[in-house]
This record gives sequence, structure tokens and C-alpha cells, in this order.
Amino acid sequence: MKEHRLSIYNSLSRCKETFKPINDKLVGMYVCGPTVYGDGHLGHARPAITFDVVFRYLTHLGYKVRYVRNITDVGHLEHDADEGEDKIAKKARLEQLEPMEVVQFYLNRYHDAMAALNVLPPSIEPHASGHIIEQIEYIKTILDAGYAYESEGSVYFDVPKFNRDYGYGRLSGRNIDELLATTRELDGQTEKRNPADFALWKKAAPEHIMHWPSPWSEGFPGWHLECSVMSEKYLGTQFDIHGGGMDLKFPHHECEIAQSVAHNHAQAVHYWMHNNMITINGKKMGKSLGNFITLEEFFTGKHQLLEQAYSPMTIRFFILQAHYRGTVDFSNEALKSAEIALGRMLDGYRRLQELKPSDKSTIDISTLESRAYEALDDDFNTPVLIGVLFDAVRIINQVKDHAATATQADIDALKKFMDTFLVEILGIRTEASGDSAEALRPYHEAVDLLLQIRAEAKARKDWATSDLIRDRMAALGFTVKDTKDGVEWSL
Ligand code: ZN
Repeated sequence: MKEHRLSIYNSLSRCKETFKPINDKLVGMYVCGPTVYGDGHLGHARPAITFDVVFRYLTHLGYKVRYVRNITDVGHLEHDADEGEDKIAKKARLEQLEPMEVVQFYLNRYHDAMAALNVLPPSIEPHASGHIIEQIEYIKTILDAGYAYESEGSVYFDVPKFNRDYGYGRLSGRNIDELLATTRELDGQTEKRNPADFALWKKAAPEHIMHWPSPWSEGFPGWHLECSVMSEKYLGTQFDIHGGGMDLKFPHHECEIAQSVAHNHAQAVHYWMHNNMITINGKKMGKSLGNFITLEEFFTGKHQLLEQAYSPMTIRFFILQAHYRGTVDFSNEALKSAEIALGRMLDGYRRLQELKPSDKSTIDISTLESRAYEALDDDFNTPVLIGVLFDAVRIINQVKDHAATATQADIDALKKFMDTFLVEILGIRTEASGDSAEALRPYHEAVDLLLQIRAEAKARKDWATSDLIRDRMAALGFTVKDTKDGVEWSL
């Protein structure tokens, strides 16, 4: 394993801490996954890409990483505001589907979008609906410990009692008295002893078709419970990293902490990591605001707010151009500049493969690698890393344009550098490494054919044809350069 001082910002301590895994052979990482109702959107892309880079980098450092990302499929999250019926159940009823058919339909689409974004699949992807027995057992232990109570077939977590014994609200910085003051009036429920209490088990209403038997009622587990239960099942009572979007800090992660501390009398998570949110043209994303753009719509350009389609790699690069704890604002202007920047990066990668070695070197690449590691070791600072990669591209371009020379050893080192940091760790698909090369091949071959016709025209001194091809290509945005190695083109 390489010697590294990786530091991670811990949302619980609110400072950067040197990463010390519990077990130096196996790192446990749990990330709150999607609710599978509706198509994936940018809100899904950011945590997936953020923790994909964490997963890739820890793996690169030599750790075996067990990465668990759950699927919320019990159907208790998305309620139809008018009818109080959960959406998975409603769609299943209206379209005569099994609820699990609805779940699978959206899960397949989510997986397709993640694959397009080059997000690696997690090690384990457990479904909440597949862990009902474990959730019931977990509730029993919390009841036995005295931190929950039954009320009319439902079970609630006793927040004030937990707060007296352990303190509640440390992760989100919320003060419980404040919390009680703000929730008291909003909550009309009489089943709870206290408005801040949250459900561990809910008795199902008759129209709720996803329900399971339990000692308390036919019902379903509360949302927060699945993450405490499944993280413990696959990563143990204590594990290294828990990630998710910042919007999950409260109440979801706060409730997870309360549940696992009540269950095990100890904090389960060593490093809490939260990615910041994405806004669109400065506004929060939301269905009611008309700016809810699915990933598929980004990839095809079919949304009224989009001026063009944006490739999955443009979306990925754009997200990585910001630090994960900073906000990201999507706009057509910002995406177009990300597209241009990515094009420059990929051009550099392509030109690197064509470099010719010299006997002597006039370039200095000695600090690239250490600067790249320094950026990643500093709480996964991808924008700084991208800056270092652009420094490498500048050097590549100097050599390619004969403004500098590089030895074979330099070229090999540059290739290893780009393959490690751009392809392996940032997960950017280059034409040479990804399937986009296949899709673009006919287009490349057509351009090469045109240039061959131009070369033949020149050879027989047919200047009219060769100039026509050059001018028409220039009008389309192509740059054609005659070099001593032949003809080179770019768009
Ligand atoms: Zn969760």
C-alpha cells in the first residue's frame, strides 16, 4: 500500500481528519442510495459520482473497499399529497403491476444512467424490502433498551429520552428544544408522545399494498431504519465511511445515529461525508418549479431548458470540476464550457498516444504525480486535480507542436499519469478507453476519407478540389493542419 496521509472532512466533527480505517485491509463504506420511484436526475448523479471517486481512490490506494449502497423500495417515501397513497403502490394499482415490477422498472433505468456516467456498481446493493426481518429484530432491541414505544400498532423512537442520555442533533447542529418548538404545531399526530419522535414501524392503512406482518401490526418499517440495519448487517456495528447528500443530514442521518447508538451504545460511523446540492440556473430543483431535468433528458437534450444534449462524460466532468462540498449550479453556459474543457482534455489524451520520442527531454513532469496525490489526499479535491491534469495536457501539446521534446520514458510516464488520474480515478471515459470510440468511429473514418481525397487532389495538382474541401471543412469548424507527419485535424 502506498504511504498516504488522506484527510477527510468529517461532518460530525466539522473538521478534516486523517483517515485511519478500523481495519487496514478492508474499508467499509455505506452511501444512501436512491428511492426507486421516478427517473434518475442530477440529484442522483452527484452523490453517485462523488462516492464513486472515493471508492475508486481508496481502491487505488490498495484498500479492499466494501461499498454498500441501498435501494429504498418499501414505498413509504413518496406519498401522493392528495390521497396519502404511496406512489409505488398507486402506479402498481393503476397499471396492474406488481409493486416490485414498478421498483425493477425504475431500478433498471437508474442502473443504465449510472453505467452511462461510468459510475462503478457498489459491492452490495441491498433492498430495504429484502431486509424486513432484520428491521423487525432491530426494533425489538431498541424497544428492549427502552428507547422506543408502541402506540396503536406503530412503534416510535423516543427522541427526548435519547437526547437526555446521549444527545440528539450533533450531526446537523440542531437543538432539540428548537426542533420541538418548530414541529409541535405542524404535527397533528396523536399517536406520538412527542412530535420529534419518528416511526420505526408504521401500521399500514388499508390502501397501503406493501406491508408485512410484525409483532405490532401488518405494516412497514420507517425509512430511517433500513440504513442503520443494512449498514450493520454488511459492515458491522462500526464502520468507516457513511455518505450521502447534505439534505439527508437531518432528519435521516440524525435518526440513523440515534437508532444505532440506542441499539449498540456506540457511534457506528467514523467519517460522515456529505456532498453538497445541485441547483439549476440558481434555483433548487423541483417538479413544481418546472426545472426538474432527468439524466436521460440531459443525454438527449429533450427538455425545454436545455439548448443541446450533454454527454454523460460532460455531466461527470462538470460535477467533478467542483469540490464535492461546494455547490454546483447547472446552466447551459456552464455545461457548454465544461464540454469544451473536457474536449481539450480528451484531445490532449489522444495526442499523447501519438507523441514521438526524442533523445533529449526539455520538459519537466517531475511534480505532476505528487501534486495529483496531494489534491486527492486533501479531502478528494477533484478541481485541483483537474488543474494538474490540464498542466499535463499543456506539456503534451508543447511536445506535439514541436515546442518541446520528450524522451520515451517521459511519454510512458505521462501515459501512466493520465491513465491513473483521468481514467482510473476520475472515471473519465476517453475515446480510446470507452465505448464512445466505437460510436464515433464512422464519423472519424468519414473525415479521414475526406482528407485522403484532398491529399489525392493535391497530388494531381487539382487545387480547386483541395481548396474546396479545406474551406468547407473550416466552415464546419474543422481545423486541418499539414504537419511533417502528415495531416492532423481537430474540431
Ligand atoms: Zn440512508
